[in-house]
Amino acid sequence: TDAEIEAGRQAWLLDRAHVFHSWSAQDQIKPMTVLRAEGSHIWDGEGNRLLDFSSQLVNTNIGHQHPKVVAAIQEQAAKLCTIAPQHVNDARSEAARLIAGITPGDLNHVFFTNGGADAVEHAIRMARLHTGRQKVLSAYRSYHGGTQLAVNVTGDPRRFPNDYSSEGVVHFMPAYPYRSYFGSTTEAEETERALRHLEDMIVLEGPQNIAALILETVPGTAGIYVPPAGYLQGVRELTRKYGIVYIADEVMAGFGRTGRWFAVEHWDVVPDLLTFAKGVNSGYVPLGGVAVSEAIFDTFRERVYPGGLTYSGHPLACAAAVATINAMRDDKMVENAARLGEEVIGPRLREIAARHPSVGEVRGLGCFWSVELVKDRATREPLAAYGGSSPAMNELVAELKAGGLMPFANFNRIHVVPPLNTSDADVLHGLEILDAALDAADRHTN
Ligand code: PLP
Repeated sequence: TDAEIEAGRQAWLLDRAHVFHSWSAQDQIKPMTVLRAEGSHIWDGEGNRLLDFSSQLVNTNIGHQHPKVVAAIQEQAAKLCTIAPQHVNDARSEAARLIAGITPGDLNHVFFTNGGADAVEHAIRMARLHTGRQKVLSAYRSYHGGTQLAVNVTGDPRRFPNDYSSEGVVHFMPAYPYRSYFGSTTEAEETERALRHLEDMIVLEGPQNIAALILETVPGTAGIYVPPAGYLQGVRELTRKYGIVYIADEVMAGFGRTGRWFAVEHWDVVPDLLTFAKGVNSGYVPLGGVAVSEAIFDTFRERVYPGGLTYSGHPLACAAAVATINAMRDDKMVENAARLGEEVIGPRLREIAARHPSVGEVRGLGCFWSVELVKDRATREPLAAYGGSSPAMNELVAELKAGGLMPFANFNRIHVVPPLNTSDADVLHGLEILDAALDAADRHTN
């Protein structure tokens, strides 16, 4: 309505006057107002309806305003809004039970945080105390969060301006078949060479110094590059061999995004620690955490764990998590994500790739797909440089929005990451918009 649009205008002016935005030069941004959101759609400041192919920051796995989760938050708010973390609370207990039930192996204990970055911080702290070692290995082309240590272990350009006090953080080259650092021509070769590189790194850094290896199971913002067969099993074996704590960062890949509750299940790998956030309650109330294995839990049975947060296991956030997990089960959303990937998104993206010379590769699992764009298919020269943007990418994003789609764009990639319960018709409609918009990108190919 006109009144909503006017309220949105007022909000925009106040935002520009008083809100300090993340990762931005404040005068160089033109933030979009969102007036309303429901399911897989959002409405912008002019009242235009957009299909959300980004799930915001890949967190609204159940879409917006799921009635059961909204009701659970309302009920919890009426009952008990907040309680200190040292007290037992039914919402928190039930959330921990449900999470322990769906995480693999013996990840039976949950330390709750406010989001993903602090989950990563605490996982590394646990690993350091458990091993008595200091160093942390992490992959280039990764994202682990915006707090100091989490951004230090991150392997993307957001770490550059923050790259101090990163003592003990060592980056390695992950397996990435499309842009193999190792010159591999097959997936098997990539797995073998990437693991040899990793073992060399471990030996050269001194295994006795390495507390943890942190790895996104399927790296998200860095490109949704699915690990080749055998790679994660190899990482698990190497970390076991050298007594290194394996932290699987499933903040983005977890909670059904890849068509399994957790992405490690695709490769039958059980990490020592697993970090989660985002999809745990679709971000309706901020929540993250670390799922902890029995061996690491044992370290802190008689020894104090030196860490905590006022809002660890916040009742509103935990009630939202309980309702989210139950809704995902009731509505079979994880199964639906797997089916959408196999039967709808994958096949349609492969058709799109065949039609458009700007598409270098499409890859993904479940509702977690990347379209990697290139100037030249033969050289694989990216359509925007690493860490940057380009007129071609800007044009493409503008076309997508004009077509009614809210995309997730990063450097030379468009990610197809809709909510897991998006209807087949909406997914196909979004892919139709992408197909049409890619003509703009094709004009920039050699
Ligand atoms: N780890 C991964 C894999 C992520 O994708 C993100 C956020 O995008 C984080 C950690 C940080 O989570 P948060 O932004 O909730 O701190």
